[in-house]
Amino acid sequence: MSALKPLGELENAAEFVARHIGIEDSDERHMLSVIGAASRRALIDAIVPRAIARPAPMALPAPLTEARALADLKRIAGKNRVLKSFIGQGYHGTLTPGVILRNILENPAWYTAYTPYQAEISQGRMEALVNFQTMVCDLTGLAIAGSSMLDEATAAAEAMTLAMRVGKSKSTVFFVADDVLPQTLEVVQTRARPLGITVATGPAEQAGTAGAFGALFQYPGVGGAVRDLGPLIDAVHAAGGLAIVAADLLALTLLKSPGEMGADIAVGNTQRFGMPMGNGGPHAAYMATKDEHKRSMPGRLVGVSVDSHGNPAYRLALQTREQHIRREKATSNICTAQVLPAVVASMYAVYHGPAGLQRIARRVASYTAILAEGVKGLGAKVLNAHAFDTLEVHTADTTEQVLAAARAAGLNLRRASAASVGITLDETTSRGCLEALWTLFAHGRPLPSFDAFEKGIVSLLPDALVRTSAYLTHPVFNMHHSETEMLRYIRSLSDKDLALDRSMIPLGSCTMKLNATSEMIPITWPEFANLHPFAPADQLAGYAELDEQLREWLCQATGYAGISLQPNAGSQGEYAGLLAIKAFHEARGEGRRDICLIPESAHGTNPASAQMAGLQVVVTKCDADGNVDIDDLKAKCEQHSARLSCVMITYPSTYGVFETRVKELCALVHQHGGRVYVDGANMNALVGVAAPGEFGGDVSHLNLHKTFCIPHGGGGPGVGPVCVVEDLVPYLPAHRAAGIGVGTPRVGAVSAAPLGNAAVLPISWMYVRMMGADGLKAATETAILSANYVAARLADHYDIHYSGNIAGVKGGGVAHECILDLRPLKDSSGVTAEDVAKRLIDYGFHAPTLSFPVAGTLMVEPTESEPLKELDRFCDAMIAIRGEIAKVESGTWPREDNPLKAAPHTTEALLKADWPHPYTREEAAYPVKSLRQQKYWSPVGRVDNVYGDRNLFCSCVPLSAYDNAQD
Ligand SMILES: *Cc1c(COP(=O)(O)O)cnc(C)c1O
Repeated sequence: MSALKPLGELENAAEFVARHIGIEDSDERHMLSVIGAASRRALIDAIVPRAIARPAPMALPAPLTEARALADLKRIAGKNRVLKSFIGQGYHGTLTPGVILRNILENPAWYTAYTPYQAEISQGRMEALVNFQTMVCDLTGLAIAGSSMLDEATAAAEAMTLAMRVGKSKSTVFFVADDVLPQTLEVVQTRARPLGITVATGPAEQAGTAGAFGALFQYPGVGGAVRDLGPLIDAVHAAGGLAIVAADLLALTLLKSPGEMGADIAVGNTQRFGMPMGNGGPHAAYMATKDEHKRSMPGRLVGVSVDSHGNPAYRLALQTREQHIRREKATSNICTAQVLPAVVASMYAVYHGPAGLQRIARRVASYTAILAEGVKGLGAKVLNAHAFDTLEVHTADTTEQVLAAARAAGLNLRRASAASVGITLDETTSRGCLEALWTLFAHGRPLPSFDAFEKGIVSLLPDALVRTSAYLTHPVFNMHHSETEMLRYIRSLSDKDLALDRSMIPLGSCTMKLNATSEMIPITWPEFANLHPFAPADQLAGYAELDEQLREWLCQATGYAGISLQPNAGSQGEYAGLLAIKAFHEARGEGRRDICLIPESAHGTNPASAQMAGLQVVVTKCDADGNVDIDDLKAKCEQHSARLSCVMITYPSTYGVFETRVKELCALVHQHGGRVYVDGANMNALVGVAAPGEFGGDVSHLNLHKTFCIPHGGGGPGVGPVCVVEDLVPYLPAHRAAGIGVGTPRVGAVSAAPLGNAAVLPISWMYVRMMGADGLKAATETAILSANYVAARLADHYDIHYSGNIAGVKGGGVAHECILDLRPLKDSSGVTAEDVAKRLIDYGFHAPTLSFPVAGTLMVEPTESEPLKELDRFCDAMIAIRGEIAKVESGTWPREDNPLKAAPHTTEALLKADWPHPYTREEAAYPVKSLRQQKYWSPVGRVDNVYGDRNLFCSCVPLSAYDNAQD
């Protein structure tokens, strides 16, 4: 018999920490010796300014193992009650096809990918997004659609500002029809206020007489009305305005499209195409518009271009509209969008095809007609003559009585008015549902017979609006209808892409760390997935507990007093935070404070969000070490003292350094009556080590899709909580349409749903619950250690652009990321940072962040999750690439023809009989030995961005295009 270990050790609750952090103790010693630091403690003490180091550990519950954390979360999930929802109001029951659920939504090949800025390694998801854009264009009858918007309400708000930008009207009035979804109206009102837009509401028929620059209609309306918008749109046009239609895509399979009725812009949610309701998100919203407005559209747009071999290839189009280039003049602040839900929606259309979608829609419309007949037979009045999926029913009982009886029967209806309820059907509606609904109006009388109605069923769609135009005619929507083909199509796309399931993605500022499977598992539990965001509060008790705990933990991590999880991306958190600052100043009679100081190094979302909040951006300088230039900041604070609203900094800075004078900077701004916004996207360098709420920040947003493990999804979903100090808590976002913050000074809703992208919050909850305070702090310190290791290993080969200049630390001491300056190499060899980024693909890597925050550089963020072996593989690749550049410098290879300029190399190019290059095929494909065991092959050659923008094409590629490719 052998001695047993102590039980405490065998039950070690912190065992997940060692799974999340890729670096082992023995690795750490090696890494420290390369850096030249005595210990991790000594390294952190040298790098993180002592003035901001946190005195006490975070008060978080002790960590749990994966199994125990899941069990605890299951207990919380159990407090949610999943009733059958007939609420509608933009959220519907849907059946996620199993092949999509498992192979996309639950598949790391899809959910761990990054936004497709590196086109060559993102062809698969961009094809799916082009399918999404084609689907939206076809169904809405408009020429061009992006991918994607954050939710229907923000898409409507973006459409409002688009209409203002492109319209000729001088009016500042925006009209919203009174049957637009209430949460959409609220978000539009929030957006309108700081921009000086007046929102007028009234019956849709009054749109043309409102004197508005734009009008928003809902189709079908929230109460179910299906009206011919054509004449109303004509009236809006005649008055010089633009018409926006918020349309339901499933309804559009049967109804005349907004484009055919003359709409200028269509927006909406694609949730009912296979994404669970998830208490409000994440879902992909859409926007489509006329061709003439394409250069003014907000958000991402995928287009078709050609690669270096003349083959069709996708890439992000018209990026000069976006915040990362255009800053405060951008068409919107959207960065992270909703790519994963957009992929799900597009695949739902691929899976069902046009005939399948129409069958679903017909069934919904038929059930709605039968429901109406039965309800009328039972003596209740149906208020809408025409309907697709929604009825508004007037009843003899009070609304509260009907709703209560429904809840008792396990059904949720919508409260339409004091004397009527709304009932919305969907794909999941069955005959049993109809009988349960009839029972509510029967008062003991016998129920109508479903079969009797079924025979003579007449749809409630108006004849004049029945759709006659075709849609989804492209082969992709018509050829993957067996599960075998569908599975292989999904696999063929993900095989083209490089995600975290294959290699590290060292993107600086993006924090592409582990998204552990145990963190992901709960998001598709029915208790989280199948809840309607406007279900009664008692049914959402589990979500309320999750929200409360997560907010408390994030307060611990940031040092702030209050947090809202409503913003559904970092950009939206920025916007909400700036609105809070604005409301604070206004409440004190200092509404004149409208200047926002932003250092030149800031992320593009910062100035774009400031513009949306009605602030005037003043750019401040950075010094030679990458720090905010305090003298310049001081001068600008003094110059604008009376009008100073706030300063927006990022900490550690986007240059990857801990500025030592940050407390002084905050104090300076406060002296001038301004507030300090600290962009929290770099929290992965801070959690447990320093807290913005303690060192002088007043507001921050977090990116839960960076630091707190929500996967990037190929470009979303994200969660961007807004965190504030005590005196700003009263100005966190409300959601009055959901009864939150009514009668308080809070700012309006910034997202369609009260809890934003609620369904992905369990991921961050699991992460914190399994890591505990010590584990999170160890993660931060290891992220800093790993970045310094990479800097130390590469310091002899590349210029590390900014560092803390710490004596004895090789590489100079950086935060959790480091910038490699490639500009000197361009002079000596003609090789650009982009060439290195593309050459890394041949080595099996996603490039680091290219040309942000400094043009001509690469910013590397390894994160704590990458093992030493992978860090070394990356450093080896970068060193080997430096060797290749040396061969160009020495003239061995010409400047215009070398492995860097021709990268990435495709198999097709490598296998051609004719090999025109001065280097060998082996040098092209296998520059380091490890690639012979494992190799990622780029599916396309270098993609031509300029060609794509000159020849803009943003829909599915006709199959014939592949025949024309040059050899
Ligand atoms: C990622 C990032 C943002 C924007 O966050 P999104 O979720 O993409 O909107 C803002 N600031 C910085 C520094 C970032 O890295």
